[in-house]
Amino acid sequence: MIIKITKAKMAIAIVVALVVLFCVADKNQNFVKTINHVQEGRKFIKYVEFNANYDALEKALNFDIKSQKEEIKLNWIDILSYLAAKYGGNFNNYKYKDMENVVKALKKGENIQEISKGMKTFSYYKEAYSAILGGFVGKYKVEVPSSEDKNKLVFEERYGLKVFSPIAKTYPFQHYKDFGSSRSYGYSRPHLGHDLMAATGTPVVAVESGKVECLGWNQYGGWRIGIRSFDKKRYYYYAHLRKNRPYHAQIKIDKVVRAGEVIGYVGRTGYSQKENANNIETSHLHIGLQLIFDESQKECDNEIWINLYAITQILQKNKSGVKRNGETKEYDRQYDFWEKSLQDFD
Ligand SMILES: [Zn+2]
Repeated sequence: MIIKITKAKMAIAIVVALVVLFCVADKNQNFVKTINHVQEGRKFIKYVEFNANYDALEKALNFDIKSQKEEIKLNWIDILSYLAAKYGGNFNNYKYKDMENVVKALKKGENIQEISKGMKTFSYYKEAYSAILGGFVGKYKVEVPSSEDKNKLVFEERYGLKVFSPIAKTYPFQHYKDFGSSRSYGYSRPHLGHDLMAATGTPVVAVESGKVECLGWNQYGGWRIGIRSFDKKRYYYYAHLRKNRPYHAQIKIDKVVRAGEVIGYVGRTGYSQKENANNIETSHLHIGLQLIFDESQKECDNEIWINLYAITQILQKNKSGVKRNGETKEYDRQYDFWEKSLQDFD
């Protein structure tokens, strides 16, 4: 009799487990369906939420950089995409041990395709995270004072973080988690960017190299600059720039800018249909990062903007020093920078 009840219970448990499994699988299917919309025959990602925290980003970055001197090279985007797939995109579940385990497997020579086999969302996260972080790490050259003559600058080749903090070196700023908080000027909407509170006139530098795509007045952003990465996937939006002299004199539409180059100055313009109005209470830089998988997404009802809080923290590892030109009163970078993607524009 006891055995019979246990068997019956077992049968019920198996049925329940199967139903749960079926639901999870179905949910996964639906998830994959919602992120890969088909529009005019083109398949592209429609939705990305990025919430990898500083700790995970920093550790993965260090594994990547350190491994470049070793036989097996690690890719921080692979590591982070694997973890995102494991956590369903929610890094609140992040444990360092999980990262260590995937790194161990990679170092043993297993490749990420093998390790992530069976994870239905891995390829989605790999594509999404590659779009976000694709231009962040690699080889670059930067000027340094020559060891023979301190007054001479020479280029040094390096591997590592090749994107910069949007606020120039030595200039103070404050920031906090403000992505998605509500804004009411014009119409009620979520805050789709990151605010860096800094004094008016603080030099703003380009985070990543790219081409100036948009320049001028916008009633929300005030004086703003839009710069597109060379792979076209990232659109950086810098807003509320200084009244009267918002931009560096060299900035023009279609100009190619190098990561770390001064592009403008912090201000508090915006919230007015009238140009050059200082209607923002506290001077700050609003920076936004939009992902574009298909050109139809550039301006649409479902634009993909990324939370930049943790990324801004990572960017503090790389600050661009600037110097003031007494004649023009303009600020310029101290040390030049070069990366391969700039070669077509030299
Ligand atoms: Zn803002």
